Amino acid sequence: MKTFIIAVGDELLSGRTLDYNSYWISKRLTGLGFEVSGISVVPDSLKEIEEIVLRYLEKEAQLIVITGGLGPTPGDITLEALSKALRRRMSVEPRALEMVKDKYRQLFEAGHVSNPDITEDRKKMAILPADSVPIFNAVGVAPGVFLTQGSTRILVLPGVPSEMMYILEMAIPLISEKIGGVIRIAELVVDVGDESALAPIFREVMQKFPQVSVKSYPAGFGDQVRMRIIASTKTNSVKDGDYILSKALELVKSLIKNSI
Ligand code: ATP
Ligand code: MG
Repeated sequence: MKTFIIAVGDELLSGRTLDYNSYWISKRLTGLGFEVSGISVVPDSLKEIEEIVLRYLEKEAQLIVITGGLGPTPGDITLEALSKALRRRMSVEPRALEMVKDKYRQLFEAGHVSNPDITEDRKKMAILPADSVPIFNAVGVAPGVFLTQGSTRILVLPGVPSEMMYILEMAIPLISEKIGGVIRIAELVVDVGDESALAPIFREVMQKFPQVSVKSYPAGFGDQVRMRIIASTKTNSVKDGDYILSKALELVKSLIKNSI
């Protein structure tokens, strides 16, 4: 899934804070099979945030993850900028408001804030672009935000690293679900010791089946070396995926028979 990350914050540009969040998000998402195609760091500026969101939408991002600027202070403007880019109204989201209220009630009971009331500044964290899904923030106050724009999913995370990590984990089912297509994998072990002999074969297979990726992994040691060939593809259904992989691996077998 073609993914872009936007880290928002003046402190990231001045060098006062190291942009740890982009590093974490890219590592985590890459590990899950997302393809991170770009990372941008932008200041707390309505115009800059709006522009970078529009640019990534133009690039047909499938997922945009934004971190920073969700807090209660006037400098936290990420959602406002996002709503401008998406041309959506901002309004109080009832579930988000409940989350913020609950949090302040808890903070008050624990003696961390002097009153539990929802002030305008606190309410700000529940004002979201239309059709947003708030994601509960167990670590801090501001909920994370998930929304879709056409075929692009957008996930907005707080800037505080521990909150960002928590909400990213919570959001993984949301950002992974309904990904157009299923991933299928098939495997074949062949009696080939020289991995380089497979290169022209793989090239031919990938030319005939551009939606299939084939890779080899040596298995065993010394004279016993054999190759495990793993073919993978992403299609609309399990049946289509398995069919195309069986065809691709048949071709691998016949090419090996003919040439090695
Ligand atoms: P808050 O509710 O604290 O205002 P926020 O979502 O608005 O949260 P920021 O104000 O942008 O987040 O940042 C909060 C804290 O997290 C700051 O100390 C900031 O330096 C740190 N932070 C923000 N972005 C990053 C980042 N990309 N990498 C590491 N730390 C970050
Ligand atoms: Mg900030």
